Amino acid sequence: MPESGNGDLSDVLAVGAKARWPRVVLKISGEALASSSAKDVVDADVLDRLAQEVAKARQLLDVEIAIVVGGGNIWRGTSGTDIGLDRATSDHMGMLGTTMNSLALQNAIERLGQPTRVQTAIEMAELAEPYIRRRAIRHLEKGRVVILAAGMGSPYFTTDTAAALRAAEIGAAAVLKGTHSGVDGIYSADPKLDSTATKFEELSYMDVISKGLQVMDLTAITFCQDNKIEILVFDVSQPGNVLRAMAGVRLGTLVR
Ligand code: UDP
Repeated sequence: MPESGNGDLSDVLAVGAKARWPRVVLKISGEALASSSAKDVVDADVLDRLAQEVAKARQLLDVEIAIVVGGGNIWRGTSGTDIGLDRATSDHMGMLGTTMNSLALQNAIERLGQPTRVQTAIEMAELAEPYIRRRAIRHLEKGRVVILAAGMGSPYFTTDTAAALRAAEIGAAAVLKGTHSGVDGIYSADPKLDSTATKFEELSYMDVISKGLQVMDLTAITFCQDNKIEILVFDVSQPGNVLRAMAGVRLGTLVR
């Protein structure tokens, strides 16, 4: 299908549009949920749009969707170390941030009538189920969107690595990594700083590592390489792109 990047979904809605991968992990960075001015940590319109796209993808493409949300709009490990907190404590705070985002996303998706479950890597039984791999898979098989909160439950990691690990555990063939900064894939250099930067349509894991391309942390890339999980890096802030990514419309950069 042709490359696309606007709100017109005729490319996705074309008769016969179907999921490129039967089960995916959608990784959304925390900052993608914030308003562009960062005035609101979670922007109502952004949240609703993402929720609608996820619900629509379930309906139209019958794709099984697990979501890993980051927490960078609320707290990062470095937010605490910068003010003298120890890293593990600060990372625990970051994981709580991812849980806040996960609950917001759950609420927004369920308002649309799409069933979801949140599972947390750190037990918070009053809020959500604990992460149990076989139960997560069962939810997916039943058509529920599963939101995996609190990363891996361990400090010193990122939600990119959590997305890669969970993809392997639940048998997802791809991690769809939504970027939010208006950069629609992987470039040879930062396109905001270097006008000669060119976008790659496809790269190998080794290319990403050897060229030092800043896409995901190295742990996540090498994990995906070892476990043959494809990574699609795309701009999640463009309306329709979640659906496009899942339908296999050409966009972003595919790493495999
Ligand atoms: N974090 C962690 N372990 C994990 C996942 C996340 O300690 O498995 C913490 C870490 O402090 C990180 C923060 O949670 O900075 C927010 O996650 P991340 O930076 O991945 O969010 P994103 O950049 O995607 O918004």
